[in-house]
Amino acid sequence: MIDLKTAWELILENSNTLNTLSVKVTDSVGYILDEDIYSPTDMPPFDKSAMDGYAFKHDGNETHEKEFFNIGMVAAGDIFTGELKNNECISIMTGAPLPDSTDTVIAVENTYKEDGKIVFDKNLKSGANVCFQGEDIAKGQLVLIKGTRIKTSHIAVISACGYNKIKVISKPRIAILNTGSEIIEPGDQLRTGQIYNSNGQMLQAMCKALNLPVEYIGIAKDNEDSLSRSLIEGLKYDILLISGGVSMGKFDLVPDMLQKAGVEKIFHKVKIKPGKPLFFGKHSKGIVFGLPGNPLSNFVGFTLFVTTAVKKMMNYDPVLPVFETGFMTEEFKQRPGRKNFFPAVINEDDDQFFITPVKSNGSADILSLAKANGFLIADEEISVINVGEETQFLRF
Ligand code: AMP
Ligand code: MG
Repeated sequence: MIDLKTAWELILENSNTLNTLSVKVTDSVGYILDEDIYSPTDMPPFDKSAMDGYAFKHDGNETHEKEFFNIGMVAAGDIFTGELKNNECISIMTGAPLPDSTDTVIAVENTYKEDGKIVFDKNLKSGANVCFQGEDIAKGQLVLIKGTRIKTSHIAVISACGYNKIKVISKPRIAILNTGSEIIEPGDQLRTGQIYNSNGQMLQAMCKALNLPVEYIGIAKDNEDSLSRSLIEGLKYDILLISGGVSMGKFDLVPDMLQKAGVEKIFHKVKIKPGKPLFFGKHSKGIVFGLPGNPLSNFVGFTLFVTTAVKKMMNYDPVLPVFETGFMTEEFKQRPGRKNFFPAVINEDDDQFFITPVKSNGSADILSLAKANGFLIADEEISVINVGEETQFLRF
């Protein structure tokens, strides 16, 4: 059986970066930019006023001329082509181009009117309240490099460079298939022997939380006919997530059925708890995860492995989940053998983290998952972690 590190290596090796896609800039957040963005112009493209006020020609002295005749107005979007004399100013709005014969702006609140003149109530340095052409960005300057993960804070500069679409790496299209003859959808009437589908909903929500396009295929029964019909549909996607049917039971048909459908097994079983019987495979169009049916196994499998594959396909860096360290508030005991991801409450106090395991009956105990905000990570060889001992955790 392979360990976590080897599983990650195999997933990275077998998950290929997807094609370039052109998306609207407004839809681009979360994608990895697949081109360099250059500014086609100086920014600002012309000297412009930073204030609503009056533009004038500064005489170079700190206590310059104080009274001016207002000869007109220039609004944002207008151009004033006339010449101003030394004793003249022009009313100017924020964002309007500075007339050629002016170099300084005084804010309207620092002036008053007297005898038909505008009197300046403040000393200004030459160039005050003007945004000069190219002072933020020069024409031809590289503003965002290929590989940048687009955030909302990037959108303004991309748009200011004139782009309405940009090239990014595609997101994987994900299909979710549940298996189990006992599983029915929430909302339907439960009969003895049946349980509601937790995983289908949870996996969809986990994909949506990452803004990934997700298609829900439904529930296949534990028989070859039902499974093979669903697999035909599911294998059209970049990533197929299957829950259930990958363990050792008589009706755990998924690994065999997948291989019959042309999926190459990369690994089956990882030395982790919960989620050991995890299946990972690839085919000509994409990759497949078979996540063991218990909901905590699904949650751990998605958090540790599916996110890693998604990030690799979208060209993210880094791609692996980040484990942090904190101190135990309670003793934790386990049977050594597998790396354990145990539901826990993580509290932060004074830049330190404190980990309290949640009472859990195991990988079917969905309430323990709901009470937790992370996993305590206990290494495979460990049998006890003492109070106050430092250990790893993964937040979610
Ligand atoms: P399996 O991996 O198919 O052997 O399932 C392991 C356990 O998880 C069984 O008790 C199943 O009933 C349960 N299980 C499987 N699929 C789901 C699901 N979609 N939602 C909730 N529990 C499930
Ligand atoms: Mg099953």
